[in-house]
Amino acid sequence: MSSASSVGPVDSNRDPNLARGERMARVRDSMRAAGVEALLLSLGADLPWLSGYEAMPLERITMLVVPVDDEATLVVPEIEAPRVSHDGRLFSLRPWRESEDPIELIASIVGSRASLAVSDRCWASHLLALQRSLEKASWRASSTVTSPLRSVKDAAEIAALQAAGAAADRVADALLGGEIPLVGRTEASVSTEIAERLVAEGHRRANFAIVGSGPNSASPHHDPGGRVIGPGEAVVCDFGGSYYLGDTVGYCSDTTRTVFTGEPPGEFVELYETLEEAQCQAVAAAKVGASCESVDAVGREIIDRAGYGDAFIHRIGHGIGIEEHEDPYMVSGNRTPIVAGHAFSVEPGIYLSGRFGARIEDIVVASDAGPIACNTADHAIHVVA
Ligand code: ZN
Ligand code: ZN
Ligand code: ZN
Repeated sequence: MSSASSVGPVDSNRDPNLARGERMARVRDSMRAAGVEALLLSLGADLPWLSGYEAMPLERITMLVVPVDDEATLVVPEIEAPRVSHDGRLFSLRPWRESEDPIELIASIVGSRASLAVSDRCWASHLLALQRSLEKASWRASSTVTSPLRSVKDAAEIAALQAAGAAADRVADALLGGEIPLVGRTEASVSTEIAERLVAEGHRRANFAIVGSGPNSASPHHDPGGRVIGPGEAVVCDFGGSYYLGDTVGYCSDTTRTVFTGEPPGEFVELYETLEEAQCQAVAAAKVGASCESVDAVGREIIDRAGYGDAFIHRIGHGIGIEEHEDPYMVSGNRTPIVAGHAFSVEPGIYLSGRFGARIEDIVVASDAGPIACNTADHAIHVVA
C-alpha cells in the first residue's frame, strides 16, 4: 500500500457528511455554471455518491431533488425510509405513502424551476410521468453535471478502489497459482467459484465473472456456460465486485487474467507477449495531462504493428468507481485530459475468432507521481490445470 501515501492518507474519523456536503456544494456550482435549476437523482451512482443512499431498483420511485437555490429533499417510499441513514445537514427526508402520488409530490418540490437534469438511469416510466407533470421543463442527463466531478476520485474513494483491487488480486493470484481447477469443469462452475471468492475476499457482492475458454476466449463479453474446459486452451477470466470500505458506498473492482491449460503454442505466446507489451506501455502512458484517447492509441499502435490490429475490437479502457463502467472512457475521440484522481481500466485484448484470445486488465488511478496500479497480480502467462 506504499503508493497510497502519494494520494494522501484517509482520515477514518472524518465525518462522511462533511465530504458529501462538499460534493453538494460543488454540484451546485456546476449546476449554476450549466444553468440547471434542479437536479433529480433516482437510480444510478449519482445518488449514493452525493447522499450515501442507494435506492432500491424497484417500481416505487426514489428521487433526491436538489434545487440550485434551496435545500435538497429525498423523496422515498415510506416502506424504504428506515433504510436511509439521514443527516439533516445534507437533505430533508420526505417519505411518501401508498395513497400519495409521488410524481405530483416531486413536481411540487421542483415548482416553477424549468431547467432540469435527471439521472441517466432513471426509469423511462418515471421520467415520462414527470414530463407529463412538468410540461414546461427542459431536460438533460444528470451526468452532464455530475460526471466531471464524480470521475475525479478523492482519497477515500481511491482507498476503496485500492482495497477492491487488492481483494480481486487475491482471487487472480489463486487463479494464476492453479488453486482454481479449470480442466474438466464448466465455465459456469468456474465463474461461480470466482464470484464466491470475490465475496470471501471482502467484496459485498460479485458483479460479474466472465470465464471464456478455448474458442470462447475470443469473445470478449462471453457469457460463461456449459462448455467443459479442456487441456491446451486459453481461458480468459474477467471479474469484479463492489467493495465497501469504511463509510464509503461500494466501489468496484474489475480485473482480467488469461491463463493456459497446458503449454501454450508458439502462436499464442507471440500474441500474448504483444498484448502484455501493449498493456504495460498503455499504463505507462496514462499520465496526468495526456489525453484519454492517447492511452488507447499507445496500446493500439503496438498491437497494430504486430499485425493484430483487426483483432483488438474494443476501446482500451473505461472509468470505474461506484459503477463498473463510467467516465472517463479511454477511447479514440475522447480528448479529455487525464487529471489526478481519474480511475480507469487498461485492458487491451486480442481475439482470433474461432481459435483463442487473451486480455489483460488492471485498474489504475492517475496521480501527479504517475499511474497507481490497483491491480498488481502477475502478467506473465501461467500454465495451469
Ligand atoms: Zn468489459
Ligand atoms: Zn473487466
Ligand atoms: Zn473493465
